[in-house]
Amino acid sequence: MSRPRATGAATTRCPTCAAPVLVQWVGHTAALKAVVDLTPLTPAQQTAAREPNRLVWCRFQAGPHSPPRLRWATPPHPPDCGHPHLAEHRCTAEPTTLF
Ligand SMILES: [Zn+2]
Ligand SMILES: [Zn+2]
Repeated sequence: MSRPRATGAATTRCPTCAAPVLVQWVGHTAALKAVVDLTPLTPAQQTAAREPNRLVWCRFQAGPHSPPRLRWATPPHPPDCGHPHLAEHRCTAEPTTLF
């Protein structure tokens, strides 16, 4: 029962800056790893956070006992849909190694 599931978001910590983040593998082939901050954004903050390489995610649950899931909150997704909207995590700590 404790095996991690392939779907659903899990709370963990960023390995670089140790900030609490929500992580989920996205897509049928789990090709994209979504790492988002836990603090919900206001609609104005979502607009400010939208950058070409930064996504905003909508955290929703299919049911009261379902694990949280992340989906893209890109337009036409309403910025005030009622679910928390979370921005892709950006490290405040500088990585020690650049690749
Ligand atoms: Zn939403
Ligand atoms: Zn980080």
